Amino acid sequence: MRIIHSLDEMTETARGWLAGGSVGFVPTMGYLHEGHITLVQAAHQECEISVVSIFVNPMQFEESDVLTHYPRDFSRDLQLLRSANVDVVFIPSAEEIYPAGFSTYVIPSGSLWAIQPTRGIGSRVYTRGVATIITKLFQLVRPDVAYCGQKNAHQVAIIRQLIHDLNIDVGLRILPTVRESDGLAMGSRNYFLTPAERQVASVVYRALLTGKALIDGNVRNSAEVEKAMKELLATEPLVILDYVKVCHLDTLSALDTIIPGTMLMIAASIGKVHLVDNIIWHGGANWQL
Ligand code: AMP
Repeated sequence: MRIIHSLDEMTETARGWLAGGSVGFVPTMGYLHEGHITLVQAAHQECEISVVSIFVNPMQFEESDVLTHYPRDFSRDLQLLRSANVDVVFIPSAEEIYPAGFSTYVIPSGSLWAIQPTRGIGSRVYTRGVATIITKLFQLVRPDVAYCGQKNAHQVAIIRQLIHDLNIDVGLRILPTVRESDGLAMGSRNYFLTPAERQVASVVYRALLTGKALIDGNVRNSAEVEKAMKELLATEPLVILDYVKVCHLDTLSALDTIIPGTMLMIAASIGKVHLVDNIIWHGGANWQL
């Protein structure tokens, strides 16, 4: 497994890819868990060369506190990646990614920009930060296919729009969310949950299932679905709700009526941890993500 830190070395290595075959790329912020490893394994199985980046992107956080306290453990991450037979791990420094004088941003407009929550995942700072870093990483790594988890619906929507609008020649593979046995979506920051907080955290997934059960039972009014989800979340006082959304998975625009491709999304804080999760209502057996 080759570990690359410098941007020049990454560029030089990527120049040689053409001869080696297809390149599967998994961008991450490290502190890896099974959710990440599922993406890595898919990249390894489906492409000749697998590349994983680890970069905690300062541009996508509003609060320097969240950035400073983002969990990091490179040696554990590298061990996991080695076991998964990854070919290249790219770990750039923030100083090289954003050198003095850096001033070009990628800003998705349209619905993705208009419907933002004011802070946290999906906010304007987040959207601009993700779009900019992903564009830069695509330029540096030159992948054929990028692998993302469904859990970060905003990230998926941003990347999809970016690829389309900027004619970026990268395929996007979106894989299902990997969960703990009680349904909590795995996440690097779950580690910060206290035992009491961890115990109630699965309410987020249960609320998504409650919404989906109503839809499966033929409820088509989004407000009714939202209300039931909020009521369940409100039973846990440790949960500070950011939002419950009934939206379309492509645009993330709110839907008044449930249609195939409806995504139920929840963002909530429990203690210091900001949780996001979602579930998709396919509306038919032939639906493809
Ligand atoms: P992150 O390190 O949080 O930026 O995540 C890197 C990639 O891993 C993103 O595409 C995430 O959607 C994906 N990911 C994070 N958690 C999970 C999970 N529980 N299941 C599947 N994919 C995940």
